[in-house]
Amino acid sequence: MMLIPCPWCGPRDESEFHYGGQAGVAYPADPGALSDEEWARYLFFRDNPKGPFRERWSHSAGCRRWFSLVRDTVTNEVLA
Ligand SMILES: [Zn+2]
Repeated sequence: MMLIPCPWCGPRDESEFHYGGQAGVAYPADPGALSDEEWARYLFFRDNPKGPFRERWSHSAGCRRWFSLVRDTVTNEVLA
């Protein structure tokens, strides 16, 4: 079991949340200028670090709000 600290509700079980993937992936400024490979890279390629990783979570079974946190992918410890 992993406890995830919702900024509004406090620590809750991970079963109340949905994972939203890597945080901070910006939409391309001019998507029409991208090649197919660049567009595919934007859509499908994400970092996969061993250690601290900034990611998005939704408290879908609670307040339904989105937030970002930093989680250690080895220990599941929430660092920030
Ligand atoms: Zn919440």
